[in-house]
Amino acid sequence: MATSISPFKFNTHDVPRRAGEMREFFLEIDDHEPLGFDVISIPDYEPIDIELRLESVAEGILATGRIQAEAIGECTRCLDPVEISIDESFQDLFLYEEDPRQKRSKKGSPANEELDDSDEVKTMEGEFIDLEPSVRDAIILNLPLNPLCDPDCPGLCPTCGVKWSELPDDHAHEVTDIRWSGLEGWKSPRN
Ligand SMILES: [Zn+2]
Ligand SMILES: [Zn+2]
Repeated sequence: MATSISPFKFNTHDVPRRAGEMREFFLEIDDHEPLGFDVISIPDYEPIDIELRLESVAEGILATGRIQAEAIGECTRCLDPVEISIDESFQDLFLYEEDPRQKRSKKGSPANEELDDSDEVKTMEGEFIDLEPSVRDAIILNLPLNPLCDPDCPGLCPTCGVKWSELPDDHAHEVTDIRWSGLEGWKSPRN
């Protein structure tokens, strides 16, 4: 069985290798892995739409994308389903493989050691560019870590687990102090 090619790898064959040339594409990626966190993610059955503009520049291809997708998760307070419409963009430069500056930048001169991951140089793989890191970052960095069905969601009663919004205002449970409940039936030796 042949190894499957990532659906985020895009063939730039149709973009002329002349600085200033530009082409636009529309990608609908519907065979991706779930993208996000446990509490909220773009599930594998939700397509990721990408409006992609590729521009030829001297050293490679500049990719500008707009990503649209639906993220699905659950409210971290009441566990109701939550849907968030993703509309994010990215821009990344992919250098031609043979560009000698790529090798130089990887050697890490003292001035380059401070560079963090966001400044990582992206390189084409032949005629392909791998959009996955760009798309993943644009989506994950913009997903809420604590998704809520409503900013004012009151959550659940910690005792019975029913939503506060569905409980009467005077809802309460008999308070049993656990320090004393363990002593029920205990008889004082002094008696
Ligand atoms: Zn909620
Ligand atoms: Zn309750």
